[in-house]
This record gives sequence, C-alpha cells and structure tokens, in this order.
Amino acid sequence: MTETDLVIIGAGASGLLLLQELHHHKFCGSVTILERKAASNDDRIWSFWDYHQLPDYLRENVDYQWPKWRFSSAAGQREMHEPTQPYCSLRSGTLRSLTDDMVNKLPSFSIIYDCIVDQIEQYQGKSVLTTSKGQWSTPQIIDTRPPPLHHRHFGLFQCFLGIEVETEKDAFDPSSADLMDDIKNTEQGLEFVYVLPFSKRHALIELTYFSAAPIVPKTLEPRLQSIINQRLHSQSFKPVREEMGTLPMYSIDLNRANANSAHLYGGIAGGAMRASTGYSFLNSQRWANDLAQQIVNHRQIHHQRPIARTYRMLDLLFLRVLRTTPELGVSLYTRMFQALEAKTFIHFMSERASLSEIAQVVWAMPKRLFLLKLVKSYLKSNRSTDE
Ligand SMILES: Cc1cc2nc3c(=O)[nH]c(=O)nc-3n(C[C@H](O)[C@H](O)[C@H](O)COP(=O)(O)OP(=O)(O)OC[C@H]3O[C@@H](n4cnc5c(N)ncnc54)[C@H](O)[C@@H]3O)c2cc1C
Repeated sequence: MTETDLVIIGAGASGLLLLQELHHHKFCGSVTILERKAASNDDRIWSFWDYHQLPDYLRENVDYQWPKWRFSSAAGQREMHEPTQPYCSLRSGTLRSLTDDMVNKLPSFSIIYDCIVDQIEQYQGKSVLTTSKGQWSTPQIIDTRPPPLHHRHFGLFQCFLGIEVETEKDAFDPSSADLMDDIKNTEQGLEFVYVLPFSKRHALIELTYFSAAPIVPKTLEPRLQSIINQRLHSQSFKPVREEMGTLPMYSIDLNRANANSAHLYGGIAGGAMRASTGYSFLNSQRWANDLAQQIVNHRQIHHQRPIARTYRMLDLLFLRVLRTTPELGVSLYTRMFQALEAKTFIHFMSERASLSEIAQVVWAMPKRLFLLKLVKSYLKSNRSTDE
C-alpha cells in the first residue's frame, strides 16, 4: 500500500488544475492523481473568456484565441467583438502534457494513468483506495469523478457531437468563433452548431442540443454529417478528432450532503458547472486556486461553492423556462445576444458581472413569464433536487 498526503481522483480539468495550483502555491507534501484513462487521451477542448485573471501557466499555453464570436438564427446574426478579453481554447491534451512535464520534475507529485478507483474505505483514520493498480492510503481525498446523470430536476441535458475537420481549400474564418449558429427549435430540443475555426482549413464543428432527455451523441452523426457537407459545400474533408458529451444542465454539488471534509468533491461533482451553459473550466480553476491556498496554509478545508448563488438561481430559473416553454428558446437567446454589450456578456458568462450588468441580463428576458415561473418553482421546490 502506497502512502500519500493527498489523492486526487481524476486527471480531468479540475484534477489537473488543482495539481498545477498546488505546485504554484509551493505545496511540499506528496500528491497522487489516479486516472482511469490512458496518458495519451486528448478528448476535449475547453473554451472560456480571458477575463484578465487567468494564471500565467494557462494564458501562456492557450491553444487558440478569437477576438470575435457569433450567434445566429433564421431571424439574423449578432457578432460580438472584444479583443481585450478574447474567447480562448485549451486542448485537454495540452493541459495534460503541461502537467505531465511538471510532474516529471517533482518527485513528490505523480499521476497514475489507466488506474480505476474501485473502492474507498476508512481504516485507522485514513482513507484506503483500492484501484486496478493497487492500494493507496491518504488522509485527504479530492474526488473529481463526475456523478451519473439523473432525471430528478427541472433542467435539461446538453448533448453534443463534434468533429475536428481539415479541408484542402479555405473554408473557415479563423477570426470568429460560432457560439450558437443557426439556433432553432426542433423535436429533440434546442439545436445549434458550435464552430471553432483554428485556421482557414481546420475547425471543430459541433452539433448541440439542449434537450429534456439525454440523446446518445453517436446518434447525432447523420445530422452532423449533413451540416458539415452543407457548410463545406460538399468539399471533401479529413476528420482528425471527435469529441462528444452529455452534460447535466441542472444543479449539482455532492459536497452539499457531504459531512466528511477528508473526502471532498471537485469539478462538476463539486458544483463547478454552470447549469445554463455547461461551462466549468474557469470555475474549476478558481476553485483549485482557492483550495490549494487552504491546503498549503494548513487551514481546515472549507468547501466554497464555485458558482455564486445569484448565478445558480438565475440559471435554474432560465432552465425551467426553457424546459417548460421550449418553443421560446430561440427568442430567449436572441434577446440576450441582441441586448448585451460584448463585455457585459463575458462578465455574465464568467460570473464577474456587476449588479447593473446582471440587471441588464434580467431585463432582456420576458419579465412576466419569468416571474410566473419563479413563483411556480418556489411552490414546487420540495419536489426536485434543484436548489
Ligand atoms: C467534449 C467536451 C467539451 C467541453 N467543452 C467545454 C468548454 O469548452 N468549456 C467549459 O468550460 N467546459 C466544457 N466542457 C464541460 C466541462 O468543463 C468538462 O467536462 C470538464 O472536463 C469537467 O471537468 P471535471 O474535472 O469536473 O471532470 P473531467 O474532466 O471529466 O475529469 C474527471 C476525470 O475522472 C476520471 N475518472 C472517472 N471515474 C474514475 C475512476 N473510477 N477512477 C479514476 N478516474 C476516474 C475520468 O476519466 C476523468 O478524466 C466540455 C465537456 C466535454 C465532454
């Protein structure tokens, strides 16, 4: 059995960010990450706005940046432009190799890949983790395994399938990302296309649904193929990578019902995901920074929810409206994109909005309908796992 001061379960966004932050805060104890996947895994691209508080190790390693981003529906298009706070993307493979390089220089840090955590038991005041690669004993676990999806909520699921393509002729505008292109209401839910153009001949094209029930991403393939053919005017392309997911668009925080501070949850499991968007990367970075400071300063670990209550409440209300009146989906997003300045939009998406900016978002929504849903959600709140 291997003894270590801290075990992090999962080398995904939050696990890797926590290891980075522990290093940057000069933690001198031993840390082991136990990760189910293989070391070479590069299965997603994390995007976020650079809101001037990114740590250098991330800003210097961002893979792509866009000063502009777009939203479009049958009714028209809106482009936002904010070169000082660009939309940024970081490949999971980039963060992983950065962290692997760091770990190779630090004998007290390690990442064990291909290692499935099966069981956690308490023994003599410590946690003992039984895995496919042996046993670890530790006084502190940070668990970042995302919890299984469930249906006891009034939210939605974000289901998507994306293909990174390379073309022989110019096909993309690399100065602008498509956040929600051709957004429309369909039987399966709100549909839109997300495009990250890395160059004129290389882009990620992702078909996304906000739906009331999970959709198996692979079943989206025929629709995605037809969208790609249409965009590329049937020009042939080389698929270079695929990414997919079904993300929970409802409130999650396993720490809420957890009295054991020696086994804390992080990442999606710890409440880092914004329910209305599926974004969690920046929240996990802020959470990791905060937790690393507590650990290094030997303070008692105190869980703080990564997303402020105002945003959690607004998101849940917005999702309830979307779930109960899906036909309004396109108009809700159109109102928001039309009403907000780029900076206000970034601040709201990154949970850095001032009160007046939050008021602008609320004001852009149909007020009577939201008020009605607010009253209904209050009355029904004891029947859901939402807040
Ligand atoms: C394809 C995709 C694209 C996304 N794009 C964005 C984006 O652009 N911006 C954004 O903010 N968010 C994005 N998200 C949402 C979210 O930020 C990511 O899912 C993010 O990776 C969540 O981080 P996490 O640390 O909570 O979980 P994960 O990154 O999923 O990490 C959890 C880790 O735990 C490991 N694990 C699970 N079970 C075990 C076990 N039993 N033993 C050992 N290890 C285990 C998993 O293999 C995984 O590596 C995206 C999600 C997906 C799926």
